[in-house]
Amino acid sequence: MRKCDVAVIGLGLMGSAALDALLSSGVDALGFDPVGAGANRGSSHGSCRIFRRFNFENPNYTALSDEAHAGWIRLQEAHGQTILTPTPVLEAGRPGSKMVAASRAAAIAMGHPDPALAAAEANRRFPAFDLPDDWDVVVQDGGAILRTEVVMEIMRARAGNRIIAQSAQFEPRHDGVSIRTANDAFFAERAILALGPWLGRALPKLGALLKVTRQAVGWFRPARPEAVALGRFPIFIVERGANDVVYGFPNFEARGVKAAPHNHGPVVGPDDWDPPATDGELGLVSDALAALVPGATGPIIDRDICLYTNSLAADRRPDQGEEFIIDRWPDSRLVVCSACSGHGAKFAPAIGRRLARLATDPTFEAEPFFRLSRYSAFA
Ligand SMILES: Cc1cc2nc3c(=O)[nH]c(=O)nc-3n(C[C@H](O)[C@H](O)[C@H](O)COP(=O)(O)OP(=O)(O)OC[C@H]3O[C@@H](n4cnc5c(N)ncnc54)[C@H](O)[C@@H]3O)c2cc1C
Repeated sequence: MRKCDVAVIGLGLMGSAALDALLSSGVDALGFDPVGAGANRGSSHGSCRIFRRFNFENPNYTALSDEAHAGWIRLQEAHGQTILTPTPVLEAGRPGSKMVAASRAAAIAMGHPDPALAAAEANRRFPAFDLPDDWDVVVQDGGAILRTEVVMEIMRARAGNRIIAQSAQFEPRHDGVSIRTANDAFFAERAILALGPWLGRALPKLGALLKVTRQAVGWFRPARPEAVALGRFPIFIVERGANDVVYGFPNFEARGVKAAPHNHGPVVGPDDWDPPATDGELGLVSDALAALVPGATGPIIDRDICLYTNSLAADRRPDQGEEFIIDRWPDSRLVVCSACSGHGAKFAPAIGRRLARLATDPTFEAEPFFRLSRYSAFA
């Protein structure tokens, strides 16, 4: 039986970042995942994610963004490959938009200059847009296109032969965790479960707090290619209503404008990937582009499906209802990570560090808003 100090089961962005943090600090760690970098399963596939410094979801996340940013820059410099492409982030909504107000407040709370901009000024600065004059708009700097495909490849390469490319079943024991793959048995002192949408299936009590949803993504052939080019066009998030939020990217990979709904799609199981994203699912995006970003609107030329894993609202402390779960699992030597909720990718280096510390430093705790004890089922 092969032994290690820490096993990381699941090597999406979070597990890969945790394994990287462990190996970088000399811990005897192994990672398990049957899915290779670039495969279109799990929540981390695809070329890019949005990096935002100021997060409308929770102002506490600014510190996490800054810590993660430093991690991305270190990785970028160590490997000489672009991981972050600095790009402004435009967030816009109807007058009184809570999303825009929260993003603005998060910036101001850090002593940052007020990022608010008149809609007409935003339309002038970014001519692909046609935002109504009375809309609330912020344009935050410190944003970037996060090249997740590059990240996954770099992290897998860094871990080298510490990766077992197989599915792993685990069984907690009083002194550690037994792990079994199709071919081998392992014993780890501790294990980090970074299973993305599969986490609830492995731990049903945790599954009761998680909601996995199907998210459609499309690439649109832009009406005005010059207006949506990198450098001329921001990352954007537009909110037309509480359940009508659409985000998108500049055409940075000559594949069209990637855009998608941020509101939650239907609840699904972790293996429910079919059918491919339909025109109906992307209709909200086509409508939003036509109404607000006419320079980016056009036929759908490519499509994808990805899964969000959203945590439910805590019943023991106020939160926005989607804060991640990053904690030790009670009465075991397991650490759990539900870092998805549709906006976890940007934080991966910071979350990976927390997971590694939870597994190796008994005095360490993640922030209270990440802990299981915010739910009465775990108090
Ligand atoms: C459409 C979409 C858009 C998003 N946009 C953004 C964004 O703009 N900005 C942002 O910051 N975040 C964004 N996110 C969120 C971000 O991508 C996720 O937070 C992140 O990818 C979650 O990574 P993970 O490692 O937790 O899960 P996953 O990537 O799902 O990884 C879980 C891994 O566990 C493996 N696994 C499962 N079972 C086993 C087993 N038994 N043994 C071994 N391995 C196993 C799977 O193969 C998988 O690779 C988005 C997500 C989606 C779906």
